[in-house]
Amino acid sequence: MNLSSAIHRKIFHIVSISAQKIKQDSYVIGGYVRDYLLGKIKFKDLDILTIGEGIRLAKEVSKYITPDPKIRIFKRFGTAMLEYENQKIEFVGSRKESYHFYSRKPIIEFGSLKDDQNRRDFTINALAISLNRNNYGELIDPFGGLLDLKQKILRTPLDANITYSDDPLRMMRAIRFATQLKFVIEKYSFQSIKKNKNRINIVSSERIIDEFNKILLSEKPSLGLFLLYKSGLLSIILPELVLLKGIKEKNGYKHKDNFYHTLQVVDNISKEKNNSLWLRWVALLHDIGKTHTKKFLPKIGWSFHAHELVGSNMIPNIFQRLKLPKGSYMRYVKKIIQHSYRPITLIGNHTKDSAIRRLLFDIGDDLEDLMKLCIADITTNNIEKKNKYKKNIYLLMERIRKLEERDRIQNWKSPISGNDIMNTFHINPCKKIGIIKDFVKDSILEGKISNDFHSAYFLMLKKGEELGLKKK
Ligand code: ATP
Ligand code: MG
Repeated sequence: MNLSSAIHRKIFHIVSISAQKIKQDSYVIGGYVRDYLLGKIKFKDLDILTIGEGIRLAKEVSKYITPDPKIRIFKRFGTAMLEYENQKIEFVGSRKESYHFYSRKPIIEFGSLKDDQNRRDFTINALAISLNRNNYGELIDPFGGLLDLKQKILRTPLDANITYSDDPLRMMRAIRFATQLKFVIEKYSFQSIKKNKNRINIVSSERIIDEFNKILLSEKPSLGLFLLYKSGLLSIILPELVLLKGIKEKNGYKHKDNFYHTLQVVDNISKEKNNSLWLRWVALLHDIGKTHTKKFLPKIGWSFHAHELVGSNMIPNIFQRLKLPKGSYMRYVKKIIQHSYRPITLIGNHTKDSAIRRLLFDIGDDLEDLMKLCIADITTNNIEKKNKYKKNIYLLMERIRKLEERDRIQNWKSPISGNDIMNTFHINPCKKIGIIKDFVKDSILEGKISNDFHSAYFLMLKKGEELGLKKK
């Protein structure tokens, strides 16, 4: 099969000429070829395989590009990378690999094209297009990758058991590609993942999470989350989720399966393409506190009282264990989960404005994401119920919007600060400052005074006086 059409851009000609000059046969390989054949013609990273030294080819290619591109050289791996027209181009010398049992870092030797294709993870990723003069554009497909692409199958070039055991990250990659491409992992291959699941422990958390995040960012993350569960990998990576599985029944009362419910919530959140990775993490972890709060109450049924607080308190440890970022993203996930149940408690006409103001004060900028979670959380199959729940949330959102308009309460900061209090009364930091601040805040939230500096200032003077302070 000739695929010259895939390599008609200038960069391919430059690589081809450079490769001929240094007499190293070269190929485009991996993701670019796969995605081109899938009809996803986009500018994406290019992987160039050369029979010889990758760094040498990168240097030769750079001579043909103006202005001089910066080459990043990874000597230890014998690879080099340069950027051309916003596209990353990676140059790799062909290799043969063998592995130690305790490491996923291979012992690398020089190898032929076939050796290099053998060490690739999947047949669809081993497809190569020749950049050489004698067969320019020819697809080199030693393992039937093209057929696997057509049949939507993920298959390893060599024995799956060995492929996954050698580099267990490939198990995560298999599930990630299956999710992104909506492919099926071939049966024996999937059995091998099950068999080798514990070998994931030799892979760093960063690499595991890299793949996990790609699954979460895909169109339908539940596909991958379910495969992670089925393979046994999820129990190792995120046991908190697996513990949500199962339905209990007592005296005719049943609760839903919170694992499958969670998968559905994640899918719902992911329907909006631009929903962030961290909102997806919120959806994924929003119910993890249910395992520890599940109780049966006679005549009432199953209760998960305070699961959102218990769950949010579990977040820092999970983030630390998985080497997820510690700072503002962790706080965002924790905070939304902590308040995830509050909107539900505010539904209905009887709710006081002050209760809504309190939520606005606590959630601040993340109100919109919290409401998105509430809507995604509606997973009942009963259409009537579903519509009713959704309508309730929309009504609440409308009420919040009106209240905000009136009060300017979102992003609420007290109109007076601790510094204002200290300066007014000429006092040093002490308990009284907190008491005055809280009093002013509560008065605004309760609607006793309006949310402006003047009203807050006079209230501060009054409360200060009560506490024996004098304006200086
Ligand atoms: P994408 O960039 O869309 O995620 P890709 O296939 O380009 O997909 P990369 O991680 O960029 O994936 O890797 C490039 C190529 O290198 C792959 O197509 C595959 O041939 C090979 N490869 C990457 N990681 C591994 C691995 N762990 N084991 C074997 N081959 C791998
Ligand atoms: Mg790539």
